[in-house]
Amino acid sequence: MGLLDKARKLSPWLIHYDCGSCNGCDIELLACLTPLYDVERFGIVNVGNPKQADILVVTGTVNQQNKHVLKNIYEQMPDPKVVVAIGVCACTGGIFRDCYNVLGGIDKVIPVDVYIPGCPARPEQILKGIELAIDKLAEKRNNIREEKKDVV
Ligand code: SF4
Repeated sequence: MGLLDKARKLSPWLIHYDCGSCNGCDIELLACLTPLYDVERFGIVNVGNPKQADILVVTGTVNQQNKHVLKNIYEQMPDPKVVVAIGVCACTGGIFRDCYNVLGGIDKVIPVDVYIPGCPARPEQILKGIELAIDKLAEKRNNIREEKKDVV
């Protein structure tokens, strides 16, 4: 099943947080919304409210200041939810990992389901990562359904 079929079944809503990036990965992520890649044709919607989002996509490194914002956004999202780290900065801290205020990748603060490497990550990689995130979201939704069956 391709991205189109998967997205049509789930219509996931995404929220993006720029943790502390150089904006390189943000530009590539924005490219996914342009007519060339047009991620919305798959039924994937970019939203601004974490309470409406299924998938959190994060660019940049996490530091002492933005870790609170990142955690706050994550905690506001309803279950099931999936987190995607875009670019090596979000995955590991990247070229900023040795900076005095950088904690590392975003998994130092919240659980990450999909890691997309690259500096910057390319739109094609981001689309593939979103496809993996949709698989994870479907898996988590099924797990919740099964748990509810056990309770009844
Ligand atoms: S991975 Fe590269 S392009 Fe992306 S935010 Fe870090 S330095 Fe910038």
